Amino acid sequence: MTSNLKIIKDKIEQAALGCGRNKENVTLVAVSKIHTAETIIPVLADGQRIFGENRVQEAAEKWPSLKEKFEGIYLHLIGPLQTNKVRQAVQLFDVIETVDRPKLAKAIARICEEEGKYPDIYIQINTGHEEQKAGMSPENADEFIRLCRDDLKLPVKGVMCIPPFDEDPTDHFKLLKQIADRNHLSIISMGMSGDYEKAIENGATHVRVGTALFGTRPGY
Ligand SMILES: *Cc1c(COP(=O)(O)O)cnc(C)c1O
Repeated sequence: MTSNLKIIKDKIEQAALGCGRNKENVTLVAVSKIHTAETIIPVLADGQRIFGENRVQEAAEKWPSLKEKFEGIYLHLIGPLQTNKVRQAVQLFDVIETVDRPKLAKAIARICEEEGKYPDIYIQINTGHEEQKAGMSPENADEFIRLCRDDLKLPVKGVMCIPPFDEDPTDHFKLLKQIADRNHLSIISMGMSGDYEKAIENGATHVRVGTALFGTRPGY
């Protein structure tokens, strides 16, 4: 392998073993936002197939040609989604991790039906109650999950969070796991380059790793 993929996969395995979990139950979502095909191709060549992008437009420009070269690519949308981009997102992504408000959920439900395509849905939770950050508040999470799953019939599979950058993420990870467990959702997307091992200790099933895998994003 030529990329950092093996290193990250080994660390995921160690973190899982360290807390008595099976590495098969932790999925790496390789966050390729900002990076160009040139940087992404070595990671694809090493076998990674699940990628996260945070902008619909950028993903639409980058991935169709990569999908022609590599089979079995699976894309997660991990950034904020505007209702006017929902159709493109539904067409392009296999998972939408950032469903966080009724208006968006309703637009997704309508367009999924029109397109006959249903990406998996994760509910984004604003565990830190940060005003500037996307995500449903933890207090309203259960009700929102019920709306998405029962009323709108969306395939809600999990929850995700982005903890505040200036805090120990542990309490946020624990809170997200509680919300997942009490709503019988099996997928918990949490943990980034700086804290994915801690996220695994706290029950993450999906970790979203960018910098540790691809290096610093250009322009950052
Ligand atoms: C960019 C991003 C990541 C990856 O962050 P790194 O620190 O580069 O690993 C994970 N999740 C979301 C939602 C992101 O926007």
